[in-house]
Amino acid sequence: DTIGRNLDRAVAAWPDRDALVDVPTGRRWTYGEFGEAVAELARGFLGSGVGKGDRVGIWAVNCAEWVLVQYATARIGAIMVNINPAYRAHELDFVLKQAGISVLVASLSHKSSDYRALVEQVRPDCPELRAVHYIGDASWDRLVDAGRRVTETELAAHEAGLSCDDPINIQYTSGTTGFPKGATLSHHNILNNGYWVGRTVGYTEQDRICLPVPFYHCFGMVMGNLGATSHGACVVIPAASFDPVATLRAVEQERCTSLYGVPTMFIAELNLPDFASYDLSSLRTGIMAGSPCPVEVMKRVVAEMHMAEVSICYGMTETSPVSTQTRRDDDLERRTGTVGRVLPHIEVKVVDPATGVTLPRGASGELCTRGYSVMLGYWDEPERTSEVIDSGRWMHTGDLAVMRDDGYVQIVGRIKDMIIRGGENVYPREIEEFLYGHPKISDVQVVGAPDERYGEVPLACVILREPGGVLTLEELRAYCEGQLAHYKIPARLRIVDSFPMTVSGKVRKIELRERYGPQT
Ligand code: ATP
Ligand code: MG
Repeated sequence: DTIGRNLDRAVAAWPDRDALVDVPTGRRWTYGEFGEAVAELARGFLGSGVGKGDRVGIWAVNCAEWVLVQYATARIGAIMVNINPAYRAHELDFVLKQAGISVLVASLSHKSSDYRALVEQVRPDCPELRAVHYIGDASWDRLVDAGRRVTETELAAHEAGLSCDDPINIQYTSGTTGFPKGATLSHHNILNNGYWVGRTVGYTEQDRICLPVPFYHCFGMVMGNLGATSHGACVVIPAASFDPVATLRAVEQERCTSLYGVPTMFIAELNLPDFASYDLSSLRTGIMAGSPCPVEVMKRVVAEMHMAEVSICYGMTETSPVSTQTRRDDDLERRTGTVGRVLPHIEVKVVDPATGVTLPRGASGELCTRGYSVMLGYWDEPERTSEVIDSGRWMHTGDLAVMRDDGYVQIVGRIKDMIIRGGENVYPREIEEFLYGHPKISDVQVVGAPDERYGEVPLACVILREPGGVLTLEELRAYCEGQLAHYKIPARLRIVDSFPMTVSGKVRKIELRERYGPQT
């Protein structure tokens, strides 16, 4: 169905339940109020001349208006374009032009980012951009006020012309391995996916979901917002951008039952010096996804954060995003050591990346996905689309995986991250998993560094538990000796304070390689 009609059903079923809580500003909406606010904003867009298929950019940090824009644009069939809040003028200019954005909704400022100044800088160069509305400014009120000219009947008549297969969203990939690509997605793509992810976690109208992950990314807007509203659960926004303290405080204050995060977010929360002082007893579940979820971290989340039913999801922006997910009743081994089983109505297979031949269970190869969740295509880039979606509609993920005999999938790593040491394939993931067990290591990333003799060797970039502490390469190697095959043992070590990250919280290995790979 369309996202608008799905929201109507939630409003009718749970009018008095909380739908949205914005902790930093203290504002809250019940489903009844949320439905009205969305309809008001949808009329505002219509009244300002935005219609089906028009591109509306959203360049904002997490806030309630972000969610309102998401539902209001879907309600009128406009195509919302998520713009990364970390972008600067050059990248903003690129997206505005590439997606042909005519109306932009933006934050005014956040931390050191003056969004208005950046917009004004590129605006003269973007003639298609005819209106900009800043959240919390008179220009936002003008957008809402424009809705006075539009009646309920006109909005309903407009909605009757929408189909669930219409494109309504362009989401850029995280840019972990290169420049982001704009995945074009329909109501059907993302609403179904949010619904199934929520159903697999077991959401009901009793659930309250704390979302420290960015809305700009599918983790927040699909698995979070759509996952919640399609089951009557409540979205809790702890802060405008990730902050471990604000996250745990919001869980405590709002009695959240579910918490989302990429692994690095959970690590930051677990490592807070006053972690034990937060009351997290309301938590039951949550989702960890986005990048490899270390077994050690999953175990700590289960044991120390009360998230006994925590779920791992695997997916990508191009597949709406989730393809596989662990189930509530999976035992700890499956829940921590795999990315779960394929979701209903989706197919996955593992193929030999060179030949495309399907491999048997237990063999490692490229994971491919097919089903309702596969994107319509990369926006305005048919050639790049045909590089990843084949003639049988299979999406080639670029991820290496194994499907076990029990149907559970394990992600081995990204094809692009594989280290080839003297002809031997080395998967950073396996080494990272092992090094997480080292008492001095808080977080670790392994990348390939150029080497004259072997072509590439494993380089471990380590964040220590004790700031200013010491870990030598000899110590690290001694820890691995007899545990890992010799060619997997890191040949080099860098102690770092932090990793270069995407806004969605993923480590940009490409940047670690460039920064620390060359010998100095
Ligand atoms: P880009 O395509 O721009 O380089 P990206 O692939 O990181 O960036 P996303 O679409 O946000 O952009 O992320 C999808 C990728 O994230 C997957 O292809 C996979 O490599 C990784 N990923 C997602 N979930 C998991 C998981 N549970 N375990 C391991 N890897 C995961
Ligand atoms: Mg990708």
